[in-house]
Amino acid sequence: MDQLGRTSETPKSPWGGCPPAMPSCSLSDVMSEELARQLEEENKAFPSLTNPEVSLLSGEETDTNSDLMLARLLQMQYDRECDTQLRREERKYNGESKVSISFENYRTAHPYDGSESSEDEVDWQDTRDDPYKPDKPQVTPRKGFTGKGKNITTKHDEVLCGRKNTARMDNFAPEVLVGDGLGMDLKLSNQVFNSLKQHCHSEQRRSARLHDKKEHSTAEQAVDPRTRLLMYKMVSAGTLERINGCISTGKESVVFHANGGMLEEQPVPEEVVLKVFKTTLNEFKNRDRYIKDDYRFKDRFSKLNPRKIIRLWAEKEMHNLARMKKAGIPCPEVALLRKHILVLSFIGKDHVPAPKLKDTMLGAADMKTAYYQVLQMMQQMYQECNLVHADLSEYNMLWHQGQVWLIDVSQSVEPSHPHGLQFLFRDCTNVSTFFQKRGVAEAMSVYELFNCVTGLDLTINEEDEAEFLAQIEALEKRNEDHVQKRGKKTFPLSSWDGSPPLKHAADD
Ligand code: ADP
Ligand code: MG
Repeated sequence: MDQLGRTSETPKSPWGGCPPAMPSCSLSDVMSEELARQLEEENKAFPSLTNPEVSLLSGEETDTNSDLMLARLLQMQYDRECDTQLRREERKYNGESKVSISFENYRTAHPYDGSESSEDEVDWQDTRDDPYKPDKPQVTPRKGFTGKGKNITTKHDEVLCGRKNTARMDNFAPEVLVGDGLGMDLKLSNQVFNSLKQHCHSEQRRSARLHDKKEHSTAEQAVDPRTRLLMYKMVSAGTLERINGCISTGKESVVFHANGGMLEEQPVPEEVVLKVFKTTLNEFKNRDRYIKDDYRFKDRFSKLNPRKIIRLWAEKEMHNLARMKKAGIPCPEVALLRKHILVLSFIGKDHVPAPKLKDTMLGAADMKTAYYQVLQMMQQMYQECNLVHADLSEYNMLWHQGQVWLIDVSQSVEPSHPHGLQFLFRDCTNVSTFFQKRGVAEAMSVYELFNCVTGLDLTINEEDEAEFLAQIEALEKRNEDHVQKRGKKTFPLSSWDGSPPLKHAADD
């Protein structure tokens, strides 16, 4: 008998021959003297091994000769039981939940768990930018295989892998329609799964882009968030009492009706409009030529970013309206300019905007009155305000209180603008055509109107528009040359009598 009381008569160890004996041992059994004796017997029977754990697992006989070995074996048995218990608790804790908490870290690492990572390629590729990471389906256990004996399936198993890949489709973004795939016994190869995933990613990006565009286009109908904030601030500051609704959404601006409040202790008109210049870049591109060649804005134009250029439009309209007001032309009055929002007096009454001239059903007398008013306003604009409307038509003339009101002058330029006279010719064409169509017998031809407005005496050949335009271009060219010689200030064409231009009309 040795020091542990084991005798040679102790029956042979069941390690090799009778595997169930070991797992069925409870901790108390293992700790018992009886077992110690038993192990001592084994000690005698089997050769010593340096790594008791490996031998234990591989079913090889273990040398239990030393106390150290014994202690290790006991410890291992104890750890195993703890792990088994931990696994039970883990299962109970997670239940059927899709998202599971792993107790893995609390386990005592054992060689039978396998030390290699079981992350397969598909998972690794997916999770790099997969927002559904936590929902990742359970992968093959860490040991890299499941099952026992002949039924072992490794992570490379095609069928298993395929099914898992199918299950992973559940983690695709909600908008990805996977059809009945999930409920079927589909087996997606990694290759198929990866390209599906790839496709989903690009689809998600594409749909995000589309969504963005859509948002943009709806915002275009009204206004973007920045503008909304500006508008909101006007209300919260009391400048506006409230903003009522949209009167018009044009290509370049959105116009809202609003009720005025107080601004710096001065009352804002009871009814106003907010002309919001659109901040989308494509629209004002066509209008570059109205502003970049306008010497008043030229220097600033070249230095500004697109957003600021849009503010210039609003500013330009404000300046042009001020000139018109000064000349007594019926037009909206500017109440306030804030960035790309212009607050103007409302032409209309009780929320009803005055109709555009094109929408009116005026009688002959009113139409004739309107015509002469327009003629006079064009002359005033040109000669007194030193401006060409540049978008004058029945769309930008309102009929209110028996009078024509001119609006929409953000693009108006001075006659000395490199294309100013061509713009005026176009205005004359619109006006002349409209009133002639509406039966105003007195309405002049476009050429007569042009000469009448400018005070010039260009040769008229009714049949030859090109010839008339050639004269206009020659004038513009002459002015351009003059500008180059004398700096940016130009002379007023209306006062040109053929002699070299000398002075420039005062800018306000
Ligand atoms: P756009 O450059 O978009 O044509 P406008 O200045 O012509 O901008 O305004 C668009 C429409 O809004 C006009 O046709 C008119 O019906 C309405 N509107 C603009 N300003 C006023 C105003 N001061 N009072 C009443 N209605 C206005
Ligand atoms: Mg307009």
